[in-house]
Amino acid sequence: MTTEQPSLALPAPPAGPDDQLIPARMVNEWVYCARLAYLEWVEGQWAANADTAQGVRVHARGRQSGPPAPDPADPAPPDMETRRVTLASERLGLIAEIDVLTLTDGAAVPVDHKKGRRPHVAEGAYLPERVQIAVQGLLLREAGYTCTEGALWYVESRERVRIPLTDELIATALSAASDLRLAAAARHIPPPLDHSAKCIRCSLLPVCLPDEVNLFRHGDVPRTPPPPADAAMPLYVQTPGARIGRSGEQLVVSVEGEADRKVAFGDVSELVLAGPVSLSTPALHEAVRREIPIAWLTSGFWFLTTTGSRGPRSAVARRAQYEAASDIGRALRFARELVAAKIRNQRTFLRRNWRGDAAERETLMERLRHLTEKAVHVPDRGALLGTEGEAAAIYFQAFPSLFTDAAHALGTFDYARRSRRPPADPLNACFSLSYALLTRAWATALEIAGLDPWVGLYHTERPGRPALALDMMEPFRPILADSTVLMAVNNGEISPDAFVRSAGGCALTPVGRRALIAGWERRLDQELSHPVFGYQLSMRRMLHVQARLLVRYLTGEISSYPHYIPR
Ligand code: SF4
Repeated sequence: MTTEQPSLALPAPPAGPDDQLIPARMVNEWVYCARLAYLEWVEGQWAANADTAQGVRVHARGRQSGPPAPDPADPAPPDMETRRVTLASERLGLIAEIDVLTLTDGAAVPVDHKKGRRPHVAEGAYLPERVQIAVQGLLLREAGYTCTEGALWYVESRERVRIPLTDELIATALSAASDLRLAAAARHIPPPLDHSAKCIRCSLLPVCLPDEVNLFRHGDVPRTPPPPADAAMPLYVQTPGARIGRSGEQLVVSVEGEADRKVAFGDVSELVLAGPVSLSTPALHEAVRREIPIAWLTSGFWFLTTTGSRGPRSAVARRAQYEAASDIGRALRFARELVAAKIRNQRTFLRRNWRGDAAERETLMERLRHLTEKAVHVPDRGALLGTEGEAAAIYFQAFPSLFTDAAHALGTFDYARRSRRPPADPLNACFSLSYALLTRAWATALEIAGLDPWVGLYHTERPGRPALALDMMEPFRPILADSTVLMAVNNGEISPDAFVRSAGGCALTPVGRRALIAGWERRLDQELSHPVFGYQLSMRRMLHVQARLLVRYLTGEISSYPHYIPR
């Protein structure tokens, strides 16, 4: 097993009284993959997979503590075995929980339980696990015990491996802890491993994006990421008065006059609650415990907030975001590229779906191409808004040229211009709902990535406006939201009676909404090739990859943010 360590020339600062103690498990991880330890310990990132779940099960066995260990000053301590012993040292800046501690003839031996089978390597175990034992031994010595060796117990092969605490192993453990503390103090994220097999099984792969970051570092082609572990889907509840409760492992949706609907928590990736629906405290607790995000929307699907999203337990990404948002020059550079990406995607969407006159299409393509170039050179945000508006006027005017003859014949989707408050006609009602769905999807993706959806780099802050979500969705409006609307109209999934019109405007009926939401979810599930990384992934995952890349860009790990611009 090889160990990649970033070269950190400066000595680590000593652990102060306010410094967090480094768990022995993190020292293990630092030696295994320094970036993994950094992401978990410094950035507060965590994600479960089958491996981590197995590890938790192994450590959960015999969870109860044993009798207290004897006083190390006792001149004749009894031989004994105890469990779950927590030791910490501010001087060393380390903390450890020892699975089993044995005392024989006054000598302490820490034993750590590991899932799986004993590896067949000369030292009896891999270096990270031996280092973890060394930290436990150091803490025992610090507490006054005699400790010259530890042991690893491999649960599957039921083998015990003796780990001598050599000076070399102790030095490696101290050096690893010191390097981790230094990296944390310097906010220096170690680089990803290069095409390592470790990454394929790593639960933090979707957070770390090792191959994607390495593409920026030295141009290596990324591997296709493994498919997602579960196929859970969002659960939408939009019926006024609906009640959501919990029955064991299931969510129970109750609507008056209808049979209860039961959905296993494990099948729900997100709860989307629109309008006056209620969620019981037990259901809320369980959703939060399982880290199922809950999106709260108005009856019109306008985003209010989310709870329970799986964001990191740190403000590293948010701090970087706020710094970027306050840097007018940096925010403008980002916004220029963002708007250029949106116009390019509008152009691509029109080109792909055009059903009108070919010469007219070429004129539109040329006008939008010109605006794309203009966007990246505008002097300020005001000019950028003007360019974006110019492109939007061209785009929406051309939109009816994408309809089939059958859709035109309905007369329902005749269209004058984009109108929002309220939508003036059926097509605008569809756009408004699809943009609301896109806003919600981005707000959740950003929160999960550790960013603040309310502070944008392009959209200005206003109460109730998720500015960063509105920023990030711009290039996705044509590709995701408008394409959902176009498919629903052209495929006849939205019929003329799916709308209610009033003097105030036009809205979708609940049935119409359901049809558009179903089309939206299908669109999210479609697999497309990532234009930068080349591999196939669903649009649902694409949003999360882009949100994580934004974190990598804002924290300075990659020099530019790769906007999603399909060809
Ligand atoms: S994905 Fe690879 S580089 Fe990233 S934290 Fe995991 S093991 Fe380390």
